[in-house]
Amino acid sequence: MIMSHASSTFLTLLFCLGLSLFADAEANDSRSRQVHSPPFLIIADRAVRQTSIESVTNILHHYRKQVKEEWGWTPHGEVFVHIFSETWHYCQETGQPWEFGGIYQDQRLYLQSPELLEKRGRLKEIIVHEYIHLLIDQETSGNCPLWLNEGLAVFISEHRGDLAPPDLLMTPTCLDSLFIREPESGEIVSSSDLKQAYLSAQYYAAQLVQRYGIQNVRKILSNLGKDIEFDASFQHFLGQSVEEFINSCQKRP
Ligand SMILES: [Zn+2]
Repeated sequence: MIMSHASSTFLTLLFCLGLSLFADAEANDSRSRQVHSPPFLIIADRAVRQTSIESVTNILHHYRKQVKEEWGWTPHGEVFVHIFSETWHYCQETGQPWEFGGIYQDQRLYLQSPELLEKRGRLKEIIVHEYIHLLIDQETSGNCPLWLNEGLAVFISEHRGDLAPPDLLMTPTCLDSLFIREPESGEIVSSSDLKQAYLSAQYYAAQLVQRYGIQNVRKILSNLGKDIEFDASFQHFLGQSVEEFINSCQKRP
């Protein structure tokens, strides 16, 4: 077959593009490395230090064991954990603002530089917080109300003892609107409002766990995973409506 000049140019161009795409894919591979430590698969930038990868892995295993022993709660399947050395790269990949040190999305954990998080004194807390989101997401098939999801993640990762009610206890509806953080929503939430929101969510989670036990709370989560309505499961397992529970939390002891 005789090739016209035009199609030969086209093929050459395609070949060059193909080569350059291939070269990019190789460059991407060489910029990251994987450490398999079941059930975790750590994917880190080349620039992330080996000691940082090790400390993240150790923290993950430590909390996996603790949550398993205490509450019999373990993840299903392989858990992907991405670690970035650069904040801008983390923001680019996740679409999240730099203020979030870590995020759970698309069934994966994403972490900013462990050294940076350690300097802020938040490495362990962020890892376990995002890990709890993963467990909740798996149990509920992504159907957990935001206030309960964030509340449990903060309660388990930061404070598990008795909690005094915060000065301002926000309603779950208010919390759900504050916790929506899709960048395209364009909503800007002040950091003091967000802090207050986390304190409220944490308080509700603490009250739920302390009054009814984590296993009853998990039964509600498990029903959410089966598409059973939240309010109905809440009433069924805890013997009161969500509204009654919230009202009881609003009353000062
Ligand atoms: Zn969270």
